[in-house]
Amino acid sequence: MSKFSKQIPQEFTVKGNELKCPVCGNRRFRTRKAMLNTFWATLFDLDWVNRNADCYVCSECTHIMWFLGD
Ligand SMILES: [Zn+2]
Repeated sequence: MSKFSKQIPQEFTVKGNELKCPVCGNRRFRTRKAMLNTFWATLFDLDWVNRNADCYVCSECTHIMWFLGD
């Protein structure tokens, strides 16, 4: 597993809705902060991702959901 696997999975809400994995239906996630401008923007040549993002990684299937935030 990757180095953030020690983080205990938690339940989260976004806009008042319980976060749920669309793939496996799991409700527990680990979180990461991602610097989109240092990786994705370079990879895909995208200007609009020049910001931080909150990432929620499903503790069951590792599906990642991205939220660009404010
Ligand atoms: Zn999942």
